[in-house]
Amino acid sequence: MGRIFIKNADFIITMDDAGSVLKNESILIDGNKIADTGASLKSSPGDEVIDAAGCVVMPGMVNTHHHLYQTMNRNVPRVADYELFDWLTTLYEIWRELDPEWVRISTLVGLGELLLTGCTLSTDMFYVFPRSAPPDIFDYEVEAGKKIGIRFHPCRGSMSRGKSQGGLPPDDVVQTEEEIFSDCERVIKKYHDPSPFSMCRIALGPCSPFSVTAELIRETVRFARKHGVLSHTHLAETKDEEEYCLKVYKNRPFHFMRDLEWEGEDVWLAHCIYLDEEEIRLMGETRTGVAHCPVSNMRLGSGVAPVPQLIKAGAKVSLAVDGSASNDSSDMWGEARNCLLVHRLKGGAKAITSEQVLRLATRGGAEVLGWDEIGTLEKGKAADLVVIDLKKIGFAGGLFEPVGALLLTGDSHIVDYNIVNGNIVVRNGKLVNVNEEELVEQAKELSFKKLEKAGRKTGINYFRKG
Ligand SMILES: [Zn+2]
Repeated sequence: MGRIFIKNADFIITMDDAGSVLKNESILIDGNKIADTGASLKSSPGDEVIDAAGCVVMPGMVNTHHHLYQTMNRNVPRVADYELFDWLTTLYEIWRELDPEWVRISTLVGLGELLLTGCTLSTDMFYVFPRSAPPDIFDYEVEAGKKIGIRFHPCRGSMSRGKSQGGLPPDDVVQTEEEIFSDCERVIKKYHDPSPFSMCRIALGPCSPFSVTAELIRETVRFARKHGVLSHTHLAETKDEEEYCLKVYKNRPFHFMRDLEWEGEDVWLAHCIYLDEEEIRLMGETRTGVAHCPVSNMRLGSGVAPVPQLIKAGAKVSLAVDGSASNDSSDMWGEARNCLLVHRLKGGAKAITSEQVLRLATRGGAEVLGWDEIGTLEKGKAADLVVIDLKKIGFAGGLFEPVGALLLTGDSHIVDYNIVNGNIVVRNGKLVNVNEEELVEQAKELSFKKLEKAGRKTGINYFRKG
């Protein structure tokens, strides 16, 4: 980690409070921080120089919801046209096969794709702990995150309510509450680094009201607060879930979570589609975080989250790709583009602006995950940024300003450089810390092997639509 001089960028989207876009200026990175920006900055001998003429530089994006293990189950034909509940119960049979190799390869694939598409900080919600897997299986994803060089904030997820207890998952992928809390404590001690510019923090994440008990949801947020970590879960993703909450808990989704003490700055919730006006108002008032996952919601036909209303109400809103089995992709840049488009489809051309979307994807995510030192390109902030070369045919004719150019034009979502904590992790559109070709081969082999194995056990042909 030395000095990097990003020279003479056409545009620097700072994402500062004033929304400043600098023109023909440079950025100096010293160690893991931005040392300065300006037109008259000069490089010194020994600096790595990136010529950014014709390029845009922007803060790295932040992904606030994922299930990285699912990158091995993208585009599974069997569930191609399923909605959430059928999709889940079918895929759980495959997820029973989860093992360290699967966790390692899928994490490298998912985080690798995120880095390539402009993300510098990601969470993950890892919640499948099969009885057949070693008890420290979560550690394999933390190690893979370290290897690839992303800033990582994974959730130690949990499921405690299997089929025999009225839940959705098979009994052999859920754990007892004792097992869950003792492992949460272990991974917080081992990996959680709350210091500024840390490369790894841990959050806790009971999966959903269909796979854990209400008591576990409440106990988890209390446990998280005691240990100074954030809490995350899914909420109000589908109409089915809304009906389930009304029927079983006699309550609407967010009211149900508030009764369990899940509200406020240290909590964030994925999806948040089926909220009424009062719930939206309360999410804003309590500054509860939202992970908006537009592509996954479109892919599963779940609905469109009331994001413009949540922003207006003051909720902390961020952007997320969700698990790759329900998005089929971990393309962060593509997620931003789709976010813009879906809200315009629903609410008209004035529903949301390109600037608002890019803000959700950068600062919005940093706020939701509680990282004050990232999300903007300003002196003293973390050196987490991406460089995108605009001298490409997809941008030609559309370079009047850069924010709309990024969301509305372009012919690829691969960034040219990605720098995390002052380290170059994507150079010339290629991952630096893993061999991409080898990883793609390993993923292909593993994904076929796991579907075949699950098929032999269940008698289901996952390679055909069902
Ligand atoms: Zn999810």
